[in-house]
Amino acid sequence: MGHQDYQQVCLNGHQITSSYLVNPEYKKDRCPDCGKPTITSCPSCNAPIKGHMFVDGITDLTPDPVPHYCDNCGDPYPWKKVNKSLKLSGLVKLIGVVGSVASIIGLLVYFWPSSKDTNVSIESHDGQSPVITDNKGNVNINYLSTKQRSLSVFSNDNKPIILVTFPSMDSVYNQNRHICILTEGTQIYLTGLKHEFAPGRYFYRIKVLEGPSKGIEGWVSDEHLKMG
Ligand SMILES: [Zn+2]
Ligand SMILES: [Zn+2]
Repeated sequence: MGHQDYQQVCLNGHQITSSYLVNPEYKKDRCPDCGKPTITSCPSCNAPIKGHMFVDGITDLTPDPVPHYCDNCGDPYPWKKVNKSLKLSGLVKLIGVVGSVASIIGLLVYFWPSSKDTNVSIESHDGQSPVITDNKGNVNINYLSTKQRSLSVFSNDNKPIILVTFPSMDSVYNQNRHICILTEGTQIYLTGLKHEFAPGRYFYRIKVLEGPSKGIEGWVSDEHLKMG
């Protein structure tokens, strides 16, 4: 006889433990490698993610791989989607490492061809790249005066809807601050926090209400929210 254990995996696909039930001491709410939240079941159908198969009398030390798709409903797990959507930020990283500020600006223009709402103040300090440098400035967080409510995000001029960890345009171009990329139409909830990053322009702190990133909080720029 034996029994099937579950595994706990972070949203980026790092395995936390493949014996979640037998060794609960290894459970973690956040990934020690990347800081992302962890899950033990499929976000689409709630079926547990299968981990180690314990067989009585046998000690099997073979690693248990992290699956890419749910074996119950067939949906890809969040890390499968992350791998696809990281192409963009990977390119930003590549250019950031080898390129000059000029080439970074060129890249931004390439990905964000419409300049009508790119009047975003990106400042360069001491010759550092405005894209890569950490934002060490103060951030003033304001509470929304309007009623909190659920909305859906939309893609403006086909820009990716990037949920970031820090309310600044720098974060949109810095993959270390990317939490996930949301699908257009995803229902979200305004947590009540907003940050004015340029005159009249805001980042809103939101909570995702559906899809593979359900339950996750982060910042999204106002261009992805219809506030009217
Ligand atoms: Zn991780
Ligand atoms: Zn499933």
